[in-house]
Amino acid sequence: MLHIVHHADYVARRPASGSFVFDKYQLVMEAIRDHAPRHIAYEPTPMERHWIEAVHDPDYVAQVLTATVPRTIERRIGFPVSAAIASRVCYTSGGTWLAARLALQHGYAANSAGGSHHALADTGAGYCVFNDLAITANRLLAQGDARKILIVDLDVHQGDGTAVLLAGREDIFTLSIHSERNFPTRKARSSRDIALPDGIEDDAYLAILDEALHEILPGFEPDLLLYQAGVDPHVDDRLGRLALTDAGLERRERMVIRRARGRGIAVASALGGGYGHDHRAVALRHARSMIAMADEASR
Ligand SMILES: [Zn+2]
Repeated sequence: MLHIVHHADYVARRPASGSFVFDKYQLVMEAIRDHAPRHIAYEPTPMERHWIEAVHDPDYVAQVLTATVPRTIERRIGFPVSAAIASRVCYTSGGTWLAARLALQHGYAANSAGGSHHALADTGAGYCVFNDLAITANRLLAQGDARKILIVDLDVHQGDGTAVLLAGREDIFTLSIHSERNFPTRKARSSRDIALPDGIEDDAYLAILDEALHEILPGFEPDLLLYQAGVDPHVDDRLGRLALTDAGLERRERMVIRRARGRGIAVASALGGGYGHDHRAVALRHARSMIAMADEASR
């Protein structure tokens, strides 16, 4: 059974400028309906402002919520922040939090958006407005839903925003495995960073991931693994530089679930990156990722 969080507002109308594909989120749900054997969809409520402000600068939060984000910041984000986008990012942040709560109950749950790992305290960046991962982790810990959280970021781009926002916290461990030569050019410092060379293939990638999980999980002992499951390490991705196949991505998702669930750790996934001219192919990649995780979690 796939427990998946989705909201109609995830699919914002395409802004006048920018190359970000918002209809991906509709296509992902269509792919889930077509390919997931069994799933239950849950609707999130928007993340409350004070939880967003617990991680982001209140001035920046106000700019987003009133759709008055300065041009320089909008350029860094990659699209203009309209009222629809403002609503969207409150829902996607609420969605990652809800997926985490569902994961603690069911073992695994997914948000069908989110994974906005480049957003920093006072600015968005790289298609990310609010950092749903940092907001969610901070809120869960503050409210006693978890004692320790491991954020595993396997998007091809480094989780630089998450690393910076959560730096120095003993109850959160951030692991980022990413392409060395990809965005962001200036990398931040996660609790553990593994930068990969261009063109790395399934077996080498999975060996590195397996070793990292073996190293981190027994020592840190989180109750929840928050997973940024970007599919942009795929060989056909327009922005990735790595060479994972469909089978490799599926093995990756099953490995994350197996290693975590084997220790009784709940896993909540957020969508992350995935880019290509064939939007349906990208959406299917995301859907397959969540379906594989739900299947592995039910074993
Ligand atoms: Zn990415």
